[in-house]
Amino acid sequence: MPSHRPLLHLALALSALVALTGCSAAAVAPPVSDAAQLTDDDGYIPDGSSLTLDSDLPAVRRLEPALLDALRSAAAAAAEHGAEVTIVDGWRSERYQEYLFAQAVRTYGSEEEASRWVKRGADSAHVAGAAVDIGTADAMDFLSRFGSEWGLCQTYANERWHFELLTRPGGDCPAPLADGRG
Ligand SMILES: [Zn+2]
Repeated sequence: MPSHRPLLHLALALSALVALTGCSAAAVAPPVSDAAQLTDDDGYIPDGSSLTLDSDLPAVRRLEPALLDALRSAAAAAAEHGAEVTIVDGWRSERYQEYLFAQAVRTYGSEEEASRWVKRGADSAHVAGAAVDIGTADAMDFLSRFGSEWGLCQTYANERWHFELLTRPGGDCPAPLADGRG
């Protein structure tokens, strides 16, 4: 089909360019070696920053709807007690989680030791959009005391900031797990 020739030439030229530059048009994002390569689209929230639960950024927007609803309701109640519920970590991309794992390997010296502290990409509740890390001590206190009213529970004994939806509203939270890998 001669009328398609110019497009074919363009496609060939582009694939040659891709081969030359090493760039790929694939949708899979490349691995990350530096936090500077992480963006809002990875759910990355820079150190020292936090998001409110009405944020439009993926870290909040891509949380499981039931978790987000529970958090928003809890946040409204917390606000009446003077505590603002913000998050410093929410949904994360798999490549962001892998970056955190690679950091842990550097810190702990081996993948085996690192995996005691940080979950691999898809295993993380954050990657599933099923976990948040809370920003302020006031809000952590509020949620650890009253969060179960909305089904929100502290998952790990040593991570008082990490909450997941672990019971029905008004139910009992399971005892926090000893080993925090959230
Ligand atoms: Zn967490």
